[in-house]
Amino acid sequence: MSTILIRGAKVLGGEPRDVLVDGETVAAVGASLPADGAQVVEADGLILLPGLVDLHTHLREPGREDSETVLTGTRAAAAGGYTAVHAMANTFPVADTAGVVEQVWRLGRGYGYCDVQPVGAVTVGLEGRKLAELGAMADSAAQVRVFSDDGKCVDDAVIMRRALEYVKAFDGVVAQHAQEPRLTEGAQMNEGTVSGELGLTGWPAVAEESIIARDVLLAAHVGSRVHICHLSTAGSVEIVRWAKSKGWDVTAEVTPHHLLLTDELVRSYDPVYKVNPPLRTEADVLALREALADGTIDCVATDHAPHPHEDKDCEWAAAAMGMVGLETALSVVQHTMVDTGLLDWAGVADRMSARPAVIGRLAGHGRPIAEGEPANLVLLDPAYRGVVNPAGFASRSRNTPYEGRELPGRVMATFLRGHATVMDGKLT
Ligand SMILES: [Zn+2]
Repeated sequence: MSTILIRGAKVLGGEPRDVLVDGETVAAVGASLPADGAQVVEADGLILLPGLVDLHTHLREPGREDSETVLTGTRAAAAGGYTAVHAMANTFPVADTAGVVEQVWRLGRGYGYCDVQPVGAVTVGLEGRKLAELGAMADSAAQVRVFSDDGKCVDDAVIMRRALEYVKAFDGVVAQHAQEPRLTEGAQMNEGTVSGELGLTGWPAVAEESIIARDVLLAAHVGSRVHICHLSTAGSVEIVRWAKSKGWDVTAEVTPHHLLLTDELVRSYDPVYKVNPPLRTEADVLALREALADGTIDCVATDHAPHPHEDKDCEWAAAAMGMVGLETALSVVQHTMVDTGLLDWAGVADRMSARPAVIGRLAGHGRPIAEGEPANLVLLDPAYRGVVNPAGFASRSRNTPYEGRELPGRVMATFLRGHATVMDGKLT
């Protein structure tokens, strides 16, 4: 069993502390702990947080290994400071059976870079017609608790109601990709001034908000738990705020890109900015930041969506939707939330680790940094400034909207149950 002494780290951004890791566990937190033969990691000026947890990652395996695999995706996650990711179900085959979710879960365990918690499909083949084997996936070795047809909306209200009722049996949650299909037929970008000027088919905010309004009412009606994926509009924030004020079991996530980027970028016609839901307006971005700060939005989720260059380096209308995000999420959150004074580092630990772990019912992650807790940790340098260079990504794909942009912060080390997956800023 190896022991590691992280010396002088600001735990959750507070006063410098020494943290001793013994095997898989935090053995002690204190001042001037003796090294006693432990490997010493000097952490002067660095911030120590619990390992990050992503509720929304597309790992693409099985079926689209040309864009990402469980191995490359979990290496990207570790590089970004994550110790657990939820792998979305829209693979080929779809993760709608116990067999597929167990396969994905075992691949993650085997590689050892980051825990992979599979998300199960709500409906067979993501087709929206017949409920998938939710109970069998929950009972499988993967112990699925989050169910989503992400990429597609569960738009049939009866199917959504049945799914919400079904997951209560095992304390599961339905994560909804809120997109009314008829209102978004052929939609290419946010509906507004810019879409009007560019002549591109718009994607109205109401297409997202109407589904969220329906689903919080459904969840309240059946007494179940609903999670809203990638909130992107100010109106969506208002609905979630109202649902929470009623005491309903509603949670929500926001992506890093919706905290920073706006539809003005679409004027470039660069498909790297094409994403689902679309980039919205400055007013939406500011409302999302405020909601993440006040807790209306529970957590940050990356919606890491890798695509091979041939699916992105083409004309806007033909390009795939989505952006990679695991390796830049913490920097974007520092830039938009910490450096703006909206959130402190304890708040970042809450929104990027503790709360997503609770929503996903993921044991052993998102825990306090304290004696006896699992040593899932990330050590970051908040003073670092660097230009994003996708050539250095661990992900198999390069479709980042931040290429050439200066962002703050750098992950210096990541520990998964005491094992360093990243050390000195490099994957081990
Ligand atoms: Zn989605």
